[in-house]
Amino acid sequence: MIQITMPLGFLGTVYREIRQALVDMGEMFGLLEQPPDVHEKPGAHALALRGGRVALKDVRFAYDPARPILKGITLDVPAGQTLALVGHSGSGKSTIGRLLFRFYDVTGGAIEIDGQDIRDVTLDSLHRAIGVVPQDTVLFNDTIYYNIAYGKDDATRAEVEAAAKAARIHDFIIGLPEGYDTQVGERGLKLSGGEKQRVGIARTLLKDPAILLLDEATSALDTQTERSIHEALAAAGQGRTVITIAHRLSTVVDADRIVVLEAGKVVEAGSHAELLVQGQRYAQMWAHQAAERLVDAAQ
Ligand code: ADP
Ligand code: MG
Repeated sequence: MIQITMPLGFLGTVYREIRQALVDMGEMFGLLEQPPDVHEKPGAHALALRGGRVALKDVRFAYDPARPILKGITLDVPAGQTLALVGHSGSGKSTIGRLLFRFYDVTGGAIEIDGQDIRDVTLDSLHRAIGVVPQDTVLFNDTIYYNIAYGKDDATRAEVEAAAKAARIHDFIIGLPEGYDTQVGERGLKLSGGEKQRVGIARTLLKDPAILLLDEATSALDTQTERSIHEALAAAGQGRTVITIAHRLSTVVDADRIVVLEAGKVVEAGSHAELLVQGQRYAQMWAHQAAERLVDAAQ
């Protein structure tokens, strides 16, 4: 999709916003081909942000009517808080992200941001409010500067550098022979997974979204990479509402609230400490991951 849409950049800001949204979503959810199957209401107003509280009210959803995926999800993420979604593969975590972004519409219930049903607001204002940090950041064959600045049309040099600093990638960049002018991507410098992800975080931070949606990589990261990404994400989340599809212990532990999904339902919710005390699914997942860590550390 990137190759196809890149030459259309001249169509202007609105198109660029949509394209960026699709690239974000494509990166995040592997939906490169699928167009949004949603419509903006005639006379829709812009989302009026008041901090970015996210509420799911008895949300139901099915890709195929014969197979319900989300079976009545109710969640409330107060403005500025962090929610971690955990659960086995296929439990519906990424689907919640797609619905928040209105890549699809709910088939029952509602999703609200600051009290406004997301079906009542313009898609542009909704997409501006939500920054997506994908699992795999797609780099364009261009400079690292361009790759970050892509997050915002009229970004200044100072803004790009500030975003790179917050994403903990600035020091790495200025250590490169050509600094921000270094060519990256397939035909340039190959960045590691962790570096690419921090470029993606910087790109998203430049948008300055009220809400951050993160889909963490499932693959194991080395300790140093994990630490740098964790720091970058913690900085990125400052003053924003964060919904993270979490795989890393560090993210999960720090979340204000953790929700465990199973087959499209919330089966447990609470803080890390509360869920450990409950001794149910989350506590089992935690013990399992902690054991894996010990094994890794011993190797
Ligand atoms: P998770 O992120 O928790 O691994 P997903 O939300 O991606 O789970 O998927 C939940 C369920 O929805 C899975 O059973 C998956 O196969 C199904 N699903 C995901 N995307 C689609 C799609 N585009 N069409 C049909 N089914 C889908
Ligand atoms: Mg997923």
